[in-house]
Amino acid sequence: RRRPRFRMAVRSSAVPVDSILTKLKHECATPLPVLRRVADAMAADMRAGLAVDGGSDLKMILSYVDSLPTGNEKGLFYALDLGGTNFRVLRVQLGGKEERVIDTEFEQVSIPQDLMFGTSEELFDFIASRLATFAQKEGGKFHLPPGRKKEIGFTFSFPVRQTSIDSGILIKWTKGFAVSGTAGRDVVACLNDAMERQGLDMRVSALVNDTVGTLAGARYWDDDVMVAVILGTGTNACYIERKDSIPKLQGHVSASGRTIINTEWGAFSNGLPLTVFDREMDAASINPGEQIFEKTISGMYLGEIVRRVLLKMAEDGALFGSSIPEKLSMPFVLRTPDLSAMQQDNSDDLQAVGSVLYDIAGVESNLNARKIVVEVCDTIAKRGGRLAGAGIVGILQKMEEDSKGLIFGKRTVVAMDGGLYERYPQYRRYLKDAVTELLGLEMSKNVVIEHSKDGSGIGAALLAAANSKYEHSF
Ligand code: BGC
Ligand code: MG
Repeated sequence: RRRPRFRMAVRSSAVPVDSILTKLKHECATPLPVLRRVADAMAADMRAGLAVDGGSDLKMILSYVDSLPTGNEKGLFYALDLGGTNFRVLRVQLGGKEERVIDTEFEQVSIPQDLMFGTSEELFDFIASRLATFAQKEGGKFHLPPGRKKEIGFTFSFPVRQTSIDSGILIKWTKGFAVSGTAGRDVVACLNDAMERQGLDMRVSALVNDTVGTLAGARYWDDDVMVAVILGTGTNACYIERKDSIPKLQGHVSASGRTIINTEWGAFSNGLPLTVFDREMDAASINPGEQIFEKTISGMYLGEIVRRVLLKMAEDGALFGSSIPEKLSMPFVLRTPDLSAMQQDNSDDLQAVGSVLYDIAGVESNLNARKIVVEVCDTIAKRGGRLAGAGIVGILQKMEEDSKGLIFGKRTVVAMDGGLYERYPQYRRYLKDAVTELLGLEMSKNVVIEHSKDGSGIGAALLAAANSKYEHSF
């Protein structure tokens, strides 16, 4: 049976679109006091999470990465990257201080939707088979000394309770993954089992979060890198911490030197300006009550929040005339790249906005409706970008408190990666504005946010090299 493409807007209790927009802007506003509140809460939650396991929303996970790349790493190493949207395999020939990266090759595929809802075995078999095909094609400048196994740095971009540098237990899936049978298991063992099923003989030497890979990769080129942030499908941050500032470490490992802490800040929730649209999206999600910061600022969700606002405006305020485009009721039809595309439209008649609305949601729109749509996108992107900026300042602030002058008193680099940051200029600008507002113009000059595109692949390979089971890399 064919269903009508439109249903009637509820006109009886009509609320003007303008008042919905005004209320939205008001509730999403992030003036300086709100940014400060968020930055302070981030710093406080970091401390609570470092004090004791389960002490805060922030898990503050030990990465077991205690030494950073030196530049001396040598040899052939592989990296696997399972993230939010893509799966990627990479090999790199490292040449030490002088030659650095001699050659690198990679392949990337988007993760088939059905694997996100399948079994653990299906997902890891897919990964292992892709890796097997890729590893067979080795040639060119890549060289592995005889008698050595190929070693892998495995970037696994989900919350993992690390048990060593090369093992860790999946705490939970995020970013829309609902694979059964992985939570509670060692993901390296899952990969090893799948490689065995493929007859593939490789060894995982390092298991790292994508933030940790990004930090290692960026640090390889720049000694001032102290923090890494991902703003893509999901979001997270890691940073370099002094072991004597990690109370929960006491009694476990020698408490001197430094280590990388994976904050898992996506789970942060204190002091955020949220709306009914956020609450309803969260309630309908596959992980209600979890990853609230991620749901407010990351790429997987911004489009969906806007869709919910537009649907409300169509239903209660007849934004698109007297009928409601049916597609607008479909969760996640509007994606964050669509928001960015609409915000790049500088034409008088907002032609591109009109096409996106028509192509995505089957919506016919007049100029006034298009203007409102752009304002809604801007409101949600602005809140997200500014809150991300406040989160970054929260981390830097915590580091500065423990080491007076070592963060804000000199050049400090935040390595940044992820499609949201890369491909949404307005979001990026809002993020930087918030950092400047919070730190002031002078101090913010010392904080450099550097796009480190796909740095996590090389980073994971570098960490595999640093943790190679062979005594000397060459
Ligand atoms: C995961 C993090 C990851 C981040 C960015 C989040 O959903 O929990 O582990 O670093 O996404 O990929
Ligand atoms: Mg990624």
